[in-house]
Amino acid sequence: MDPKDIKKEYTNGSVTVVWQSGKCIHSGNCVRNNPEVFQPKEKPWINIEGSSTEKIISTVDKCPSGALTYYKNK
Ligand code: SF4
Repeated sequence: MDPKDIKKEYTNGSVTVVWQSGKCIHSGNCVRNNPEVFQPKEKPWINIEGSSTEKIISTVDKCPSGALTYYKNK
């Protein structure tokens, strides 16, 4: 695995977004669909508190590469 391929998780308590950098094809869908959360110029680039859980899930579902996935917290 490329050392630049990182896997990180971001949670707001009800949903956890999983980010796998090596899979990203830079389509920009996430940023277009939800710029309040997906902010590539910021660190960390995912501001998980930036929108509702529902909107986060629908945005992650539109990631074409599988770089973004999510699971629901218990
Ligand atoms: S939608 Fe997925 S593939 Fe496209 S830029 Fe965002 S993380 Fe990368």
